[in-house]
Amino acid sequence: MTTLAILTAAGSGSRLGRDLPKALVELDGFPLVLHAARRLAASGVVDSIVVTAPDGLVAVMADLMADDPHVHVPVQVTDGGPTRQASVSAGLALAGPDDDVVLVHDAARPLVPPDLVRRVVGAVRAGHGAVVPGLPVTDTVKQVRPDGDAELVTGTPDRSMLRAVQTPQGFARDLLVRAHRTGAARAQAEHLAATDDAGLVEVLGEPVHIVPGDAAAFKITTERDLWLASLVLQETNA
Ligand code: C5P
Repeated sequence: MTTLAILTAAGSGSRLGRDLPKALVELDGFPLVLHAARRLAASGVVDSIVVTAPDGLVAVMADLMADDPHVHVPVQVTDGGPTRQASVSAGLALAGPDDDVVLVHDAARPLVPPDLVRRVVGAVRAGHGAVVPGLPVTDTVKQVRPDGDAELVTGTPDRSMLRAVQTPQGFARDLLVRAHRTGAARAQAEHLAATDDAGLVEVLGEPVHIVPGDAAAFKITTERDLWLASLVLQETNA
């Protein structure tokens, strides 16, 4: 049986303020999506990859993957959807008959350590249907609600019971298909769509397990994150 990784790369990344979609923004001379694909391939536990591409960029992304010797697993590229959830659904539709484990990874996390990919796949293969990497939360987190032109604090969850979750998230393929099918009505609208796949599994009432995450798998959202990522790369290449 085989493991498919869906690499979500169809977002606009407007918070980075570039003309280009975030997945194509370069870090150390290579687009973020290529860094992520290389690391998935390097894990040795991913048999093939489906990339979700922004509008009009399927061919660009396919060439990028085909020309890179480090991405030594088969790659398909498909059009993404209007939300991340819709993009993952589009990727999932391309799963092959032998893919019994599916990972979902964000191109916006280009420096994911191959070790983390192995940890997630290992936990799914060990029998957990849904596995998410998570890190302890160091900030105190407040729950709020709108209150005029400000916000009112409504609670302070116990920090020791919170985890900041990352990708790749790993699933038994049948469970992920069921979760996306059940949540399909929400996929087209930004304010309704799930921001991660584990959330859809939780709606089904099925268990989701956490494995230790890795700070290196941090998400690139702002220009500062890109700068941090280039420092991390310099440090690891030194
Ligand atoms: O916008 P955000 O950073 O949360 O996106 C997370 C990941 O989902 C990114 O890698 C982005 O390219 C991807 N995405 C997608 N399709 C969308 C929106 C986001 O594949 N419609």
